Amino acid sequence: MKNYIRQHLGTNEYAITEIENGIIPMTNYRFPAVDGRIIFLGTAGGQTKASSGYTFQYIQKHSARLVNSLIKKGNPFVSRPGGPARYRFYDSVLLHVLKNGLVPGDKVFTDLFKKNKPQRVLRFLDNESSLGDELKIISSLPSWPFLKAAFRQW
Ligand SMILES: Cc1cc2nc3c(=O)[nH]c(=O)nc-3n(C[C@H](O)[C@H](O)[C@H](O)COP(=O)(O)OP(=O)(O)OC[C@H]3O[C@@H](n4cnc5c(N)ncnc54)[C@H](O)[C@@H]3O)c2cc1C
Repeated sequence: MKNYIRQHLGTNEYAITEIENGIIPMTNYRFPAVDGRIIFLGTAGGQTKASSGYTFQYIQKHSARLVNSLIKKGNPFVSRPGGPARYRFYDSVLLHVLKNGLVPGDKVFTDLFKKNKPQRVLRFLDNESSLGDELKIISSLPSWPFLKAAFRQW
């Protein structure tokens, strides 16, 4: 931000009055999507993918659905976001693997990207993969720890 202010706003005349720290809630907790007439957006509305922390894509898709509903139905109340239930299961399995140190996180993600096309990995991380994609992804990960975690989450 300091670089941005210097380069784009061309000034060093500013004061830092508050500093924020970012924390990504990597959890399979089901965040409430609405409270009466209030619709929760973004991370607060459960738009963060539990196993990767990815949120931007989900926010875009959720917002597009709200707008679409407003245009078509005259209200922004859409069904709970999150995609097919199998993605929540995959997330829970990966969270179990990471939390219990069954496989180090850097190895999981290195294997994912080394053994798969990036497009396939990104479709998976965006909850937009086909079953074929998912079989390839699953077979590229160390089978025993993931199997153990899957049985725990079943
Ligand atoms: C280090 C880091 C890297 C990340 N990288 C990526 C990435 O590459 N891709 C991706 O998709 N996501 C990433 N994320 C996740 C990222 O947090 C979200 O994508 C995005 O910031 C979520 O936006 P948001 O508006 O939902 O929440 P936030 O950006 O957290 O904004 C919420 C705001 O509300 C304020 N607030 C909270 N409570 C109150 C209150 N009661 N009253 C008033 N204000 C309040 C907070 O102070 C904050 O400013 C990253 C997160 C971190 C921490």
